[in-house]
Amino acid sequence: MNPIYLDYAASTPVLKSVEDVMIKTLLNENLQGNPSSNHFYGWSARDAIIESRKTIANSIGGDYRDIVFTSGATEANNIVIQGAIEKAAKENNGYSNIHVITSSIEHKSVLDVFAFYEEKGVNVTYVQPNHEGIITSDAVESHLTLQTVFVSIMFVNNEVGNKNDVVAIAKCCRDYSVSNETNVNFHTDATQGIGKLPFSLKGTFIDYTTFSSHKIYGPKGIGAISFNNGSANNCAKTIFGGPQERGFKPGTQPTHQIVGFAKACEELTQKDRRFEAYTHYLKLTRVFVKALCGFGLEFTLNTNLAKSSPNILNINIPGIESDLLMGMLSTLSVSAGSACNSKKEESSYVVNAIQKARQQSVDDISTNLRISWGIETPNEVPGFAAKEIHEMVTKYKEITQ
Ligand code: PMP
Repeated sequence: MNPIYLDYAASTPVLKSVEDVMIKTLLNENLQGNPSSNHFYGWSARDAIIESRKTIANSIGGDYRDIVFTSGATEANNIVIQGAIEKAAKENNGYSNIHVITSSIEHKSVLDVFAFYEEKGVNVTYVQPNHEGIITSDAVESHLTLQTVFVSIMFVNNEVGNKNDVVAIAKCCRDYSVSNETNVNFHTDATQGIGKLPFSLKGTFIDYTTFSSHKIYGPKGIGAISFNNGSANNCAKTIFGGPQERGFKPGTQPTHQIVGFAKACEELTQKDRRFEAYTHYLKLTRVFVKALCGFGLEFTLNTNLAKSSPNILNINIPGIESDLLMGMLSTLSVSAGSACNSKKEESSYVVNAIQKARQQSVDDISTNLRISWGIETPNEVPGFAAKEIHEMVTKYKEITQ
């Protein structure tokens, strides 16, 4: 029997409805053309893409003309952050004249871009999470200066699930800009939040939103940027080629991927469906935590359950190395930290920053386990998962003591 998949924050399967529209698109002769071509087959593909743009923009309260398709959130984050910094550096006569703010718990596709520009001389501030594991608008505000041009704070953290009030943070950037006659642009990596929590760009000061299809039951290899409030004018182009995607992401658009992404977005952001999934995740988490406590397993929560997206739960189990526990847990596919860091020896920088903010001392040997539920995770799975984890930890301790 295959292990039970509990790593939906890393990637989700595609919905049946997504699979259907993708196959239909692939097999539809009328859609076979290059969407940039000036003939019937090109126009048909272009129309399908425009419809998808509208669906996606609608689902996040944006404008379809502001949607730029990318290969995923990694590329979207790169295009936005590089573009914003390049433009600002040009306008301010050099990298060393600009200041940008992010947090220490962002995804690598954000942090590594900032690290690249830090080496070029950009002044980067990394805001730390507070004792609740949250990046607050007060913390961001305290670092804004007259040189600040760009702020990037994620909506939901991919390792622990904690959510930040990005609407409030965007507003504080705008208020600062207005009071000081500067122009601070705000970006949020909303990859783990869209489709899980309510999110709308309407009336907000979020200038750039990036997200990905394969976290919301769409195909892998497609994501998007939503430029808002005219922010495309503040973003330089950093990939060169054709005019596709307004020049921000040149290259032939993958029609079937885009159509699949739109279907997933439409379904997962639909209010009733999202609410149903939300309550399901809450229930699974409650059952799981209760079962772990019932077994008497020693663990602490890395997730702030009151301020998180309930599909993600991260716990610290002392006294066992993560590689060993992961190896023993043959019945469950869970993650130690985030999949993107799984090849690194170092423990999670996200969990470390949160534990530090809480002044929490943790065992040198311990495992941070991320469990992430899916919309179809059966109700009996959390109880089973808790039993398996407890058994493996107990077995390990019996052998090693
Ligand atoms: N940002 C966050 C918060 C993520 O969780 C991920 C996926 N691990 C990414 C960016 C990168 O997304 P993609 O796989 O679409 O490049």
